[in-house]
Amino acid sequence: MKQALSKKLFAEALKFIPGGVNSPVRAFRAVGGQPFFARRAKGARVWDVDGNEYLDYVCTWGPAILGHAHPKIVAAIKAAAARGASFGIPNALEVTMARRIRQWVPGIQKVRMTNSGTEACMSAIRLARGFTNRDKIIKFDGCYHGHADSLLVKAGSGALTFGSPDSAGVPAAFTQHTLVLPFNDADAIEAAFAANKNQIAAIIVEPVPGNAGLYLPQPGYLEFLRDITAANGALLIFDEVMTGFRLARGGAQERFNVLPDLTCLGKIIGGGLPVGALGGRAEIMDLLAPLGPVYQAGTLSGNPIAMASGIANLDALADGNVYQKLEDRGRQLAAGMREAAKAAKISVQFNSCGSMFCAYFCHQPVHNLADAMKSDRDRFAKFFHGMLAQGIYLAPSQFEAGFISTAHTPADIEKTIRVAHKVLRRL
Ligand SMILES: *Cc1c(COP(=O)(O)O)cnc(C)c1O
Repeated sequence: MKQALSKKLFAEALKFIPGGVNSPVRAFRAVGGQPFFARRAKGARVWDVDGNEYLDYVCTWGPAILGHAHPKIVAAIKAAAARGASFGIPNALEVTMARRIRQWVPGIQKVRMTNSGTEACMSAIRLARGFTNRDKIIKFDGCYHGHADSLLVKAGSGALTFGSPDSAGVPAAFTQHTLVLPFNDADAIEAAFAANKNQIAAIIVEPVPGNAGLYLPQPGYLEFLRDITAANGALLIFDEVMTGFRLARGGAQERFNVLPDLTCLGKIIGGGLPVGALGGRAEIMDLLAPLGPVYQAGTLSGNPIAMASGIANLDALADGNVYQKLEDRGRQLAAGMREAAKAAKISVQFNSCGSMFCAYFCHQPVHNLADAMKSDRDRFAKFFHGMLAQGIYLAPSQFEAGFISTAHTPADIEKTIRVAHKVLRRL
C-alpha cells in the first residue's frame, strides 16, 4: 500500500494543526500509525491521495447513509450554492426541512436548526433547565453529547478513546449539576431521583449508545426512562444525532416506540454538511427565543446549502425499502463476522442494531461502558490495521460504531467477511 503522499501531508499538518487533525479520533492515536488523507469518495468507497481504495464503514461517522457523493445530494448542493451560500434571512428550505423532520420523527412537533450536534445537545440542556426551572441533569457514562462543558463528563467518542473522559479547561463548577450514571441500570436512576427530589431537569441519553462502541438498551429500559422522568416532572431527551434517520426513519424513538420530550439530531439530516437540530413538544420548544426566555441562536443556522443537502438526503429515505435494505445488510454482516470470529476461535462480541455495529474483543456481552472497557484494545488495533491493509476501513477506535450505507452491496459485505476471516485467524 503506497502511503508517501499521506505521510507527507500528515507531517505538514502536524506543523499547523494541533495533532494534525480537526477532530481527535481521526488522528489514529487509538490504533497507532498515521491517518490516510482522503482525495475523493463515491458510494461505499473512499480513495486516498496515494490512490488506495477502501471500502468505507465509517461513512463520515454516520451522515453518508446513502453512500458518498450521491448524485441527488451533489445536485442539490450545487443548485443551492448558485443561489447564494448564506442569507441570514429566512428561506423556504428551512420550512421544508422542519416539515420533513416533524413528519417523520414522532416526538418532534417543532424544531430549531443548529450547525452541529454539539450545539443541539447544549441547547437541549439549556431548554430543559429553562422549562423545568431545575438545574441538575443525568447523563450516562460512555454517552457522548458533543463537547459542551457540562456534557463533557465521562463522555464517549474521542474523550473516551484518549482515556481522559474529563477535559482540562472545564471548571468543576460547570459540571457539578451533571450526574453521571451507568447505562442499563434502573436502580441507579431510581436512587438518583430519590436523592435529588424536584431537582432533576432531564435525562439525556443516546437511546442506542454508539460512542463507546455500540450497545443496546435492555428490553424495557427506555420505557423505564420515559416513565420515571414523567413521574418526576423531568424531561427525557433522546440524543439521536447518530441514531436519527439511521435506526428507522423516525430514529430509535420509532424503532423502540418510546417518545422523548426533546430530540437532538445531526449527522444524517445534513447529508454531509455541518448541521444539527433540536426538536420536541411545541410547549417546550416555544420557550426558545424569540418567543420565550431561553436564548439560542446561530449566524449560519438553517444555512440554505446545508438545508438543501439534508433535504435531499432525507427525501431519498422516504422510500420504505431503504430501511429494509439496511437491516438486511446489517444482519448479513453480523452473522458473517460472528461466524468468522468463531472459526478463528477468538472471543468477539459483535453488537449490531440495524445498520450500526461494533466488534468488541472480549468474552462477556457488552451492555454498558464498564463491559466495553474490558475489551482488548491492542487486539482491536491489530484487527483494524489488518482490515485496513486489505482495503476495509473501520473506525480507528474500539470505542466508535461502524456504519453501513445503502451503497454497500451484499457482495461488499461478503468481501468484508472474507477478509475478516483471514485477519482474525492471524491475530
Ligand atoms: C456526533 C454526535 C454528537 C456531536 O455532534 P457534532 O456534530 O460532532 O457536534 C452528539 N451526540 C451524538 C450521539 C453523536 O453521535
